[in-house]
Amino acid sequence: MCGIVGIVDAGGVSFPLYYALYALQHRGQESAGISTFEGTTLYTHKAQGLVAEVFNSQTLQDLRGNAGIGHVRYPTTGSKVPENVQPFNFRYRGLDLSIAHNGNLVNTAELREEYEHRGQIFCTTTDTEIIGNIIADALRTSKSMEDAVLLCMRRLRGSYATVALLNDTVYAFRDPLGIKPLCIGKLENGYIVASESVAIDALDGTFIRDVRPGELIRIDESGLTSTQIATTNRKAYCIFEYVYFARADSVMDGTLVYDVRRRIGQKLYDANPVEADTACPVPDSGIAYAAGYAEQSGIPFIEGLMKNRYMGRTFIMPTQEQRERAVRIKLNTVRGNLKDKRVVLIDDSIVRGTTSRRIVNMIRDAGAEEIHLRVGSPPIIAPCYLGVDMPTRTELIASGKEIETVRKSVGATSLTYIPLDDLVEAIGCGERNLCTGCLTGCYPVDINGEKSCHSVVDYVAGTHQSDLSTFKAGKERT
Ligand code: AMP
Repeated sequence: MCGIVGIVDAGGVSFPLYYALYALQHRGQESAGISTFEGTTLYTHKAQGLVAEVFNSQTLQDLRGNAGIGHVRYPTTGSKVPENVQPFNFRYRGLDLSIAHNGNLVNTAELREEYEHRGQIFCTTTDTEIIGNIIADALRTSKSMEDAVLLCMRRLRGSYATVALLNDTVYAFRDPLGIKPLCIGKLENGYIVASESVAIDALDGTFIRDVRPGELIRIDESGLTSTQIATTNRKAYCIFEYVYFARADSVMDGTLVYDVRRRIGQKLYDANPVEADTACPVPDSGIAYAAGYAEQSGIPFIEGLMKNRYMGRTFIMPTQEQRERAVRIKLNTVRGNLKDKRVVLIDDSIVRGTTSRRIVNMIRDAGAEEIHLRVGSPPIIAPCYLGVDMPTRTELIASGKEIETVRKSVGATSLTYIPLDDLVEAIGCGERNLCTGCLTGCYPVDINGEKSCHSVVDYVAGTHQSDLSTFKAGKERT
């Protein structure tokens, strides 16, 4: 759970990177960083905090150059310490490499042990540093970055949408299964790669397409080229990006997230129609769901909860007690819209159950007669090892429990989740192309002690230059 961006632009990149990170702030609020390159110097500014807290106009002016990368972090591996803030820089043999990553490797421990055994010293506890080290090591023996990324991809297991700045060239690559999102856009004087299309919109750019799973994109001042490094018999787009994590205004792997959520809302009604007075979203991600639900059912969409928009996500709170208190500060009820009403309450997911229990209580306290909780994802029964911050099985309220037990625990009048088939249909790319690990306990990569649904990866580096090789400086796509 992080946001990444890479930009090459003749008009300078620090401000565009900053705006892009702002648009990606929902993907990580723990820290932010930018690296740029000019002449012979790599510039980096990074710190813990929100994008607006980390940068000011002076720090941005000091980040010189026409090529750079940026990162917002939500820690999944590695603790919340300053040295884990990305991008990470590596300097050797006259080259400067800066790297930032969204995702999570599942073979970090093995790789780290191997590299430490060879005498490699690590400065952080993140898997991103491993990726940087493998690339730097591979560059010693490879003729090109393409070959180095091929060697690197062969070693990595897990999810990794990555941006790298090698002197003044930006590289971006996505793991062979495409677990984490990454897309490409055209700017007035250059190109951008970013976790979500909203970052391209923020810069008034034009969305070109998603980075393909297993693809390496190279951007320099002469334009943009692509090399397909790996191919697979399937994809494994993270299903939770659609359910919760991505912004609703992002287009992800060809699908507008808002549309997916609206379709889920429609299907939630069709699967379990109920008579009620209001369709009430849990803001923010529940809004698109409730719009679809209201549309399908004819039950009016009326907001019964208001969100304080100046607070971070509740999960950022490190302890259960802090999380519980934060929910109350974050949300307030609109009493007049709830009193004596039969309310359908629509949320994207139930993870630990803390939020749902609190919200149901608040809505009951506001005088609602009935509370029918409808959830836009099937029960989350298993942890995520591939980049979403999910608790262990014991903390997941739905793991090993009947729905009726969960209903009682959160205190709703009725509770239904969207069936997996309906969710997959709402996304539209087929279950075979989604990672459903948290919903099924079956993962697209081998993970110790877990079931895997096998994926076959072929490495084909250098044999295929895809359509983007036509994107040269000054030319438009034909
Ligand atoms: P809870 O059931 O208390 O664990 O909270 C679930 C709520 O938190 C959901 O309604 C989501 O809006 C949000 N949420 C779900 N997954 C995550 C996550 N991995 N990180 C942060 N917030 C999440």
